[in-house]
Amino acid sequence: MQTHEISRRFLTHFTNAGHTEVPSASLILDDPNLLFVNAGMVQFKPYFLGEAPPPYPRATSVQKCVRTGDIDEVGKTTRHNTFFQMAGNFSFGDYFKAEAIEHAWNLITGSQESGGYGFDPERIWVTVYLDDDEAFHLWQKIAGMPAERIQRRGVEDNFWSMGVPGPCGPCSEIYYDRGPEHGREGGPVVDEDRYLEIWNLVFMQNERGEGGAKKDYPILGELPAKNIDTGMGIERVAYLLQGVDNVYETDLVRPVITKAEEMSGRRYGAGNPVDDVRFRVIADHARSGVMLVGDGVTPGNEARGYVLRRLLRRIVRSVRLLGVTEPVLPEFAAVVRDTMGPSYPELVKDFPRIESVVRNEEETFLGTLASGLKIFDMAAGEIKSSGGSQLPGDKAFQLHDTYGFPIDLTLEMAAEKGLSVDEQGFRDLMAEQRARAKAAVKKTGHGDQTVYRDLLALGATEFTGYQELDTEAVVR
Ligand code: ATP
Ligand code: MG
Ligand code: MG
Ligand code: MG
Repeated sequence: MQTHEISRRFLTHFTNAGHTEVPSASLILDDPNLLFVNAGMVQFKPYFLGEAPPPYPRATSVQKCVRTGDIDEVGKTTRHNTFFQMAGNFSFGDYFKAEAIEHAWNLITGSQESGGYGFDPERIWVTVYLDDDEAFHLWQKIAGMPAERIQRRGVEDNFWSMGVPGPCGPCSEIYYDRGPEHGREGGPVVDEDRYLEIWNLVFMQNERGEGGAKKDYPILGELPAKNIDTGMGIERVAYLLQGVDNVYETDLVRPVITKAEEMSGRRYGAGNPVDDVRFRVIADHARSGVMLVGDGVTPGNEARGYVLRRLLRRIVRSVRLLGVTEPVLPEFAAVVRDTMGPSYPELVKDFPRIESVVRNEEETFLGTLASGLKIFDMAAGEIKSSGGSQLPGDKAFQLHDTYGFPIDLTLEMAAEKGLSVDEQGFRDLMAEQRARAKAAVKKTGHGDQTVYRDLLALGATEFTGYQELDTEAVVR
């Protein structure tokens, strides 16, 4: 079943059940806690928080999502994209637990002839929050789920909150058993690779107060009107229904791998696991890069632009490691346009702009890449031959400042050589440079404004800032 069809079936299932279909919001919403939209519920937050009356009692959507916090998993697990599509159904004080469970169950186990996904019910496992006996019993009653396939999990996994005072509540997640050849027996609590998480149902039934860490913030009581927020990963369902091994081999992602195979003359899945990770990273990042440019992000040193830069430059380096020396981003972007265009026609309309953004970014980076790599290789060689194990902060700073290597690219290159990086030293040098730029501006009253702006913005991000922002996430 094609990815597009999986989305369509989801929306049809829920519009047939009285939900209003709402288009995906942009990846960029004005939310101080979030760099990118990372869950379907983000555009509905004002309704959940009671800041605006919901225009409909129930809604359904397929939302574009970016999770930069998952970047290190990409290509290594079978299930993490930086860009993915989250299908969801939402109830604003309308239906609650029983109906949410029933809908999810009917859609995933309903036969493909009748519009469902046709998953074998025997292979489905679910989790519920520790003391959520109600959900436990509903799974038994509605789905006939045997007690041993319903697992209880604690706050970290199965209690959701928005990271601010307001609605919160237990959640229940649905997993598919990929079979004994993929890992250990014992359900998702034991092995999250064999048991693939496909859907998260959040039951917003409580209200949380101010303060405290996730584990011990006060729960004020029950909400007067209870809400439902769910998120199903379209790419994960596609990966199961298409009989492939991971999300990167699904119909909307794999074509970039194929393009990279053509360009490099190397084959994916030919027994070289290091190359295979690179192919998957390239395909994943090409798609997220293009989707971000499509929504108006341009590469730069500020928060969002920096994430984009990091994705695009990682592709450029990865593809070189597959032996390709010519520019690649415009061609990859065209493949993404062709796969994603049917669902996101703005990519087709806007392609000339998207292409020129990625082309410029690649040209800029190619201008410094070779010399940067030389500097890095020399430094790494010296460190190794003198018995050291750490790249000094000033090298990382030089690579960043003079050669445009995002710090995580340096981290990745160092790790490949078995080296660590003095990240603190790097950050100290960044801070010094910022202070110098600030002082220069004070002294002269102007200074080089562009440098100043970039540095300030970069300082605000501090390289891990986007991850922290991103993981203060919404659905959990
Ligand atoms: P995981 O534990 O696998 O990282 P999660 O618990 O972080 O997933 P949720 O926040 O519950 O995921 O998001 C709801 C659904 O969105 C998940 O059940 C999954 O199907 C999908 N999803 C989440 N993260 C990704 C991702 N990085 N790539 C593809 N799909 C994802
Ligand atoms: Mg996750
Ligand atoms: Mg999870
Ligand atoms: Mg989850």
